[in-house]
Amino acid sequence: MAKCLVTGGAGFIGSHVTEYLLEAGHEVVVLDNLSTGREGNLKAVADHPKLTYRSGSITDPVLLAELVPGVDVIYHLAAAVGVKLVADDPVRTIETNIYPTELLLRLAAQGGQRFFLASTSEVFGKNAKDRWDEEDDLVLGPTSRPRWAYGCSKAIDEFLALAYHRKYGLKVVVGRFFNVVGPRQVGHYGMVIPRFVDCALDGKPVTVYDDGGQVRCFAHVKEVVDSVVGLMHTPEAEGRVFNIGGDQPVSVKELAEQVIERVDPEIPIEYIPYSEAYGDDFEDVRRRVPDLARLQETLGRRPNMSLGGILDDIIRWKREQRAAE
Ligand code: UDP
Repeated sequence: MAKCLVTGGAGFIGSHVTEYLLEAGHEVVVLDNLSTGREGNLKAVADHPKLTYRSGSITDPVLLAELVPGVDVIYHLAAAVGVKLVADDPVRTIETNIYPTELLLRLAAQGGQRFFLASTSEVFGKNAKDRWDEEDDLVLGPTSRPRWAYGCSKAIDEFLALAYHRKYGLKVVVGRFFNVVGPRQVGHYGMVIPRFVDCALDGKPVTVYDDGGQVRCFAHVKEVVDSVVGLMHTPEAEGRVFNIGGDQPVSVKELAEQVIERVDPEIPIEYIPYSEAYGDDFEDVRRRVPDLARLQETLGRRPNMSLGGILDDIIRWKREQRAAE
């Protein structure tokens, strides 16, 4: 059994990673500053004897130097995430996503810890291909549009991680997440499914940006976490980048219709321009679909829950949350 550091362990994905590792018998140290994470996300495991919670920031070099030598594995999930947060505060995005990752990678290269780097499908930018594999070009927009700071900062993280692997033998796996969704995800930072579900449960119109023709693939967080931890236990994964997500495309309009059908068929869709949601300098990604062949070949499995099953789980969780409030 290993001792694992989970940065961002009180966040949406991080809390699921923490639970999964504890369930498998590992020890977990969570480092989180609760900027976008919440203590309540760890409620189910709060008293677990193998869990240590450390409140603090990944931008604190002294704290990182204290925590890293005591662990065997690092799951680096702390980051500035969400298109809305990134659009609202690009400085925070860049500062949170680059320097702390460099520090952690350096410490792990020295200490020999295995390292999972959470990256994002945003690094592909607006590549026009129908399906993106890990060797495809990154096609980012101009620096005058803050959105691209997110993908660009994560691409720098990836470059660093792979360079540390080549130069120092760092045992790193890079995972590019594609629209991970599920219980505990909140809509404040722009994420579409919790926003649609909240609107529908409130009896309000569901707000689709632009014409709703944008295409995404959604993956349930539990399946994504299974892929993440699985890759960290697969030697062939070392030093490589993996797309992690679902690969069933759906338009945002169809997504809205599916949420409405499940919650209340009377709810209307309201179409609003991007400028109203994110300001004038916003640019969206029209289509984002991963090629999962590498993940399937390396791990022998990949996320495959249907969108209907995913939505049912999220709506059930949201209803429980509301009943408990
Ligand atoms: N979106 C929308 N309404 C919302 C939130 C998002 O129509 O209330 C759209 C958004 O423009 C994007 C898609 O849903 O095309 C997915 O957005 P999200 O922020 O969840 O993830 P992204 O894929 O943009 O990182």
